Amino acid sequence: MAEVAFIGLGNMGGPMAKNLLEAGHAVTVYDLSAAACEQMKLAGAVVAGSALDAATGRDYVISMLPAGKHVADTYLGSDGLLSKLDGTTTILDCSTIDAATARRVGEAAAGKGIGFMDSPVSGGVAAAAAGTLAFMCGGDAATFEKARQILQDMGKNIFHAGPAGAGQVAKACNNMLLAIHMIGTCEALEMGARNGLDPKVLSDIMLASSGRNWSLEVYNPYPDVMPNAPASNDYKPGFMVDLMVKDLGLAMEIAQQSDIDNAMGQLARELYRQHQEAGNGQRDFSGILRRLQE
Ligand code: NAD
Repeated sequence: MAEVAFIGLGNMGGPMAKNLLEAGHAVTVYDLSAAACEQMKLAGAVVAGSALDAATGRDYVISMLPAGKHVADTYLGSDGLLSKLDGTTTILDCSTIDAATARRVGEAAAGKGIGFMDSPVSGGVAAAAAGTLAFMCGGDAATFEKARQILQDMGKNIFHAGPAGAGQVAKACNNMLLAIHMIGTCEALEMGARNGLDPKVLSDIMLASSGRNWSLEVYNPYPDVMPNAPASNDYKPGFMVDLMVKDLGLAMEIAQQSDIDNAMGQLARELYRQHQEAGNGQRDFSGILRRLQE
């Protein structure tokens, strides 16, 4: 059992912190939202009045915050946690943020002898609740080995991607590819449907052929092909378009910094941005099919 501080108790952080409680850890929580804290108190957590109170003296600090700015504010600067904590605490930031901020926090932590890993997740709210998230970690090998068990209490697949920042790069690569193959899958299914093919039959054909991909396998974007996919539930998320646009923005930053010509990624971002502007930000990202149908 470990003493864990959990900061950021939203759609993802709330269920992740609950899984730590269920695994028998002592969890102290902090969130700007009193309602989110109250929920966790009912689940058995101790509520702290500040991030520092939550973090002081704990074995692990885990954060699940909206963006790089919130992570930088929490850890860096004269009021940041890194200026107050010591090497007995290990920090795991599971937020999806820019790789540059993750590296900055990682370097500041290393300067103080504090273990840090950017540990963004793949899987969404359902996987957070089920404890089946995939974690992509950026940090040194010793920190990874130390943190593996606690990450396993919230997830199923735990990967060491490389040094600080590598977790965020892995997540951006994955989500850029996801956006591209989701749009490609929608185009193929719509083209088949307009030519008289049954989308379910076409899906089966492509699943057994070289067009096979994750969107076809577990997240078919065409309504009524898969009863449990968001497409069969009016594109209720799932994974929201707003979050896909955010993740593609992070991927474009990395592509620019590394001077890569990612024409497909840029186009996918533009199409998702248009879909968001058309009022679909809170709908599931597989609903980009509707863009082709309108
Ligand atoms: P959310 O908006 O539901 O939750 C964020 C929480 O952080 C809120 O409760 C907010 O009050 C709290 N918060 C903000 N600033 C804070 C601060 N300074 N101190 C303490 N608490 C603070 O967001 P979410 O959906 O839980 O996503 C969290 C992170 O996980 C994001 O980086 C997101 O990109 C990533 N992510 C989300 C999903 C998903 O499906 N929702 C999937 C994978 C990754």
